[in-house]
Amino acid sequence: MGWLDGYVALVTGGASGIGRAVVKRFIAEGCTGVGVMVRSAEQVDGLVAEFGDKVVVSVGDVRSPADNVAAVEATVARFGKLDTLVGNAGVWDFFARLEKMSTEQVAESFDEIFGVNVKGYVLAASAAAPHLRASGGSMIFTLSNSAFYAGGGGPLYVASKHAGVGLIKQLAYEFAPDVRVNGVAPGGTVTPLRGPASLGKQEKRLSEIPGFEDSVANAMPLKFIAQPEDHTGHYVLLASKANSRATTAAIIQSDGGWEIRPM
Ligand code: NAD
Repeated sequence: MGWLDGYVALVTGGASGIGRAVVKRFIAEGCTGVGVMVRSAEQVDGLVAEFGDKVVVSVGDVRSPADNVAAVEATVARFGKLDTLVGNAGVWDFFARLEKMSTEQVAESFDEIFGVNVKGYVLAASAAAPHLRASGGSMIFTLSNSAFYAGGGGPLYVASKHAGVGLIKQLAYEFAPDVRVNGVAPGGTVTPLRGPASLGKQEKRLSEIPGFEDSVANAMPLKFIAQPEDHTGHYVLLASKANSRATTAAIIQSDGGWEIRPM
């Protein structure tokens, strides 16, 4: 018996990193099926090879209303309902400082970073809401230590993740009592998280920054850098109607104790 027996979920950005680990864990916890929204067609085969008929994969851009609706509809068409939306697709800004960008670059990268990290979550919520109301389900959004503290990115990434806090609270308010809305806020994690094309960083990956793993591990009171799998139990807990029935508007910090790090 898993905690998510018979559940159907949709995970955005589920081809890699934290999203992919959530897909894997949800299936292990008994999900009947998981819809996975991915950015490009090359990401489809690997998911189908690993998870077979337990997944239905939709290619799209989370900034597109139509692509979000298509991912929700594909999931419901294949598996019959939707219990859990995991909004997770994201881009990072590689610590881009405001003063190092032209004003034009600031405007373009704002649109890209907020487009993926904030608008992408709002559109996924909008597309999934009717099905989640019908199932008494829940939404879970991936935030970050950057949702609460400075220093985990530049101003655009940090502001976008802070915006996620407000989004979770207001959606929890709007959708109560039918749909719970919560978040998971990882800290530095070994993933191929990319940068924005508007800053020419679309091929750069977080985990390839020299010394990244050691510097995160050293900064964390718990003294290790997380792997994607280290966060997945929080998503299972928040998705579970039996185990989180009384929890909405909550954000679980999964960041190695960032708040209590020595200054
Ligand atoms: P990742 O790059 O493995 O996952 C992000 C996924 O989002 C990728 O699969 C990518 O293809 C997808 N994506 C990006 N833009 C998209 C778009 N426009 N449309 C559709 N899909 C798109 O990296 P990750 O670290 O697993 O990131 C997952 C989430 O975790 C993000 O929201 C990120 O901000 C957050 N996060 C990551 C870390 C970290 O250190 N890795 C820390 C805190 C929070």
